[in-house]
Amino acid sequence: MRINEITNWAYGVTVVLTVLSGGAFMLSAGSANQERVAVEEHLSLDELSEQLALGAEERTDEARLYVMRGQDRHLKAFHDKETEEQGLEQAIKGIKGLGASDAELSALVEVEQDADALDQLEEAAVAAYQNGDLAGAQETLFGPEHDRLQIGLLETVTRFRELVKARTETAVALAQSRSDLWGLAAKTMLAVTAALFLGVLYFVLKRRVAMPLTRMTGIVTRLARQDYAVEVPLDRRQDEIGEMNQAIHIFRENGLERDRLDAERRADQLTKDLILQMMHRLQACQTQGELADVVSRFAPQIFPNLAGRLYVLNDSRTLLAGMGSWLDPKHSAASFPTSACWGLRRGRPHLSNHGQGDISCQHLAESDVAGLCIPLTAQGDTIGLLYFEERPGQDMAAESSRLYLELIAENIGLAVANLQLRDRLTNLSVRDALTGLFNRRCLDETLARHGRAHPGQPLACLMMDIDRFKRFNDEFGHDAGDMVMQYVAQLMLDTVGEAGTCYRFGGEEFTILLPDAAETAAFELAERLRQKIATTPLSHGGRILGLVSVSIGVAGSPAEGPVSTLVTRADAALLEAKASGRNQTVLAGAVKLVDKGNLNSA
Ligand code: GH3
Ligand code: MG
Ligand code: MG
Repeated sequence: MRINEITNWAYGVTVVLTVLSGGAFMLSAGSANQERVAVEEHLSLDELSEQLALGAEERTDEARLYVMRGQDRHLKAFHDKETEEQGLEQAIKGIKGLGASDAELSALVEVEQDADALDQLEEAAVAAYQNGDLAGAQETLFGPEHDRLQIGLLETVTRFRELVKARTETAVALAQSRSDLWGLAAKTMLAVTAALFLGVLYFVLKRRVAMPLTRMTGIVTRLARQDYAVEVPLDRRQDEIGEMNQAIHIFRENGLERDRLDAERRADQLTKDLILQMMHRLQACQTQGELADVVSRFAPQIFPNLAGRLYVLNDSRTLLAGMGSWLDPKHSAASFPTSACWGLRRGRPHLSNHGQGDISCQHLAESDVAGLCIPLTAQGDTIGLLYFEERPGQDMAAESSRLYLELIAENIGLAVANLQLRDRLTNLSVRDALTGLFNRRCLDETLARHGRAHPGQPLACLMMDIDRFKRFNDEFGHDAGDMVMQYVAQLMLDTVGEAGTCYRFGGEEFTILLPDAAETAAFELAERLRQKIATTPLSHGGRILGLVSVSIGVAGSPAEGPVSTLVTRADAALLEAKASGRNQTVLAGAVKLVDKGNLNSA
């Protein structure tokens, strides 16, 4: 039941009880009044009857005095008393209507009769006296008959008074008990009313004031400790407590909003810090593998709700290859042609969302999961793609995160471009542009490094020179000469494979370093190479160029000499090979000549 209903009921019952107790009080007062009336009646009847008895006695006295003394004043007094007695009798008759009982009325009639009988006797005595019968008159007034009548009158009056007294006492007792009963009922109802009133007051004060205040004190204490998770029940009542409740609501909502903004600011700051950290590490990356590792570690920290993958465009700019991924992206292929991505085609971030009506990239599997492709560009060139997709149960990041996504993509793009540029520059500085082989500077560095890093480990060196190349150039042109050098370089790479490294020493001279190879093994490889070159016919621009040959000098270390003299010794062996007729291999240690005609023996 609602408090309003309870209080309404309580007020209704209180009003009814108050009215009832008022009525009971009035009834009680009425009974008291009846009691008073009964007492008054009793007193007046008692007094009248007493006066009647007294009057009869006085009249007797006057009659006796008159017959004794013969004075008229006694006769007059005798008659006055009679008149008085008649008045009293009238008064008593008037009182008859005031609820006198039958017994009282009959007693009253008896009183009248006795009084009348006494009157008649006394008047007879007075008349006898006036007629001169003094003795008869005295005999009558003092005789036994007079005494009997007088005593009879007194007894009747006494009985009448007792009857009146008994009735009055009964009436008084009844009125008193009624008055007490109504009084008790009135007091009881008043007590119940007061108890009810106090109960309701207590209930209302406790439920409507004390409890809400206690509750709000607890809430305010928690709010003061910035515990905004506390529930504030809404109280719409239109009083001070209702207003206080509303104020607490507003206070809590403000606190929550401030907390939310603080959390947002902290999260934003954390994101910025992570992005900054990632950028610093990207700057320090030396390889694309390292770069992919950095992105794969930081991206899920910055965007925990997004899985993703980093793609880099291949050298021929046709294919995107996945370099690294995070949080297990499921919907994008590990590699795909550039044409499969709308982001790359448009050169702008593209959101593929199968459920939303926009076109989806072909490298994405058919699903409701949104995927965002952000092209990685640097100085207008596309170099890769950053792909993000929603994780299960998460929404694609908000607009502000989108800005961060693009910021990250821009930085990753620049970092990839820097790495690629560095790779290109490094290649340019260590490789020969024509043949793609490492250059002389690189050879010097490698030899120096080998001396430092692997002292004592075997290293073989081949110095190779194309025979009579000047003449070849002169005959077929410089371009054909370049093609021959490229061809020779390719044969070197094919023959050496993983066994060593090939360098262009300068001009038409080449060097091969074979780590862990003895002189003899190096010699065998040199021979294989030489024979391959010498037996492969060449053509350029539809022109037959014929055959070219090379001369090779082979030196080894540390068995045959130190690394520092390796190239010199191999070069000396090469000179020896030239001097010995070209198209042959010469060992530096034990100068060993191989006949031009003996090509198949090695
Ligand atoms: P030898 O058998 O004694 O080595 O005779 P050679 O003619 O090969 O030797 P020489 O040192 O007289 O000539 C080397 C020639 O190599 C000179 C130059 O025209 C040619 N040459 C050097 N570098 C290049 C190059 O990059 N491209 C072309 N096409 N020719 C080059
Ligand atoms: Mg030459
Ligand atoms: Mg030369």
